[in-house]
This record gives sequence, structure tokens and C-alpha cells, in this order.
Amino acid sequence: MSLQEHVGRRRELDDAAAVVERCRKCAIGSTRRNSVYGEGDPCAALMVVGEGPGETEDKLGRPFVGRAGELLDRMLLAIGLPREDVFICNTVKCRPTLDVGNRLANRPPTPDEMGNCRPYLDQQIEIIRPRVILALGAPAAKSFMGERFSISKQRGQWFDGPGGTPIMATFHPAYILRMTGGAMTEVKKLVWNDLKAVRTRIDAPPPPETAPQQHSLFE
Ligand code: URA
Repeated sequence: MSLQEHVGRRRELDDAAAVVERCRKCAIGSTRRNSVYGEGDPCAALMVVGEGPGETEDKLGRPFVGRAGELLDRMLLAIGLPREDVFICNTVKCRPTLDVGNRLANRPPTPDEMGNCRPYLDQQIEIIRPRVILALGAPAAKSFMGERFSISKQRGQWFDGPGGTPIMATFHPAYILRMTGGAMTEVKKLVWNDLKAVRTRIDAPPPPETAPQQHSLFE
């Protein structure tokens, strides 16, 4: 990708992030410390979409920077993708919280919150035009593939995502971290297979409509 393309897309993402920062469509827009727009390469071949920011992400304004984020970084590196070469974001850009008396706990985003944030996610996909989207966990997967999607039965399968972008879902790194012993080994094995399939898809030649024009020597 040319430097000009890179700079142009970066500017578009920065402008979109500024709109998100001002957004107050949901109540969580007012309880959050920072919006978490997403970060990474504006020309990334892979876009990773998680559920929503947690406490650490809310504090730092960056996606996947807590324990689950550290595991995600290792998962991506295992398929040869340093974090900065990927674009990482979430279905919602503000931390969904639940007041549990003495503190705010994380909770999954509601369908309304995901709906309100969806235009921002779609815009990110349109700007970045990734070759592949990887959805992490059931809420992110359902937001693309529909409510009936089963993460345990349908993870690792390819679907048509927004604009025809190939999308796959796998288990969320936070889910892996909650596992122990043999169950953890089993889940890690499944996720590793999914990641390898993602790498293979990224490395495959681009589909004909996005392939560079072939020019004849005699033009
Ligand atoms: N979990 C998510 O789904 N997203 C983050 O950014 C962090 C943890």
C-alpha cells in the first residue's frame, strides 16, 4: 500500500475517532473514562473485532491492553502478525458497566448499544478494507452472523461479512484465560487451528475483483 494511501486512511480513521469521542448515543458514553475507537494499521489485512472495552481499556483508551489483550498479542504473533500490523477494535467503543455498589463491573454490551455503535464499526471496515475479519467471542460473532450463531459449533467457519469480507469467529482470549487443565489445552488447540486458517486466507491471492490490473506488454 502506498504511503499516500496509508496517510489518507489514517486521517479518515482519526476523524471518525473524533466523532466517536463526542458520541453520547448510549448512557455508557457518559460513564466511560475514554472512548476506545480501535488502533493499528489503517491498511491491515486482518481486522480483529472484540466485544467491548474493559476496565484497563477504558482507562487507557486502547483496545485489548489487559490480560486478554496480552494473550491476543501472543496469538497474533504466533501467526506472524505483530499487533501493530493488525487493526484491533470492538463492537462497542465505550466500556459497558454495571454498578455493583462499591465499583463498576464489566458487562456485555446490550443489542441497543451494539446497534448504536454499528455505523462506527462499519465505517472502520469500509476505510480499512481488511482481507479478513476475525470476531472474538460470541457477542462479536453474533453481531455479524446473527443471534443464532453458535460459537462452539460454528467457530472456525468462514462467512460473508460486511461488504463481502470473509469473516471467521473464534473463542475470545478471555474465555481461554478462564479455562484450566485439559479444557484449556483443548480450547487452545481449536483456536490455533482457527488462527492458522486466518493466516492461510490472508496469504491467498486476492480475489479477481481486487487483484491488480494485468496490463499487456503491447498496450
Ligand atoms: N475484551 C474485549 O472484547 N475487548 C477489549 O478491548 C478488551 C477485552
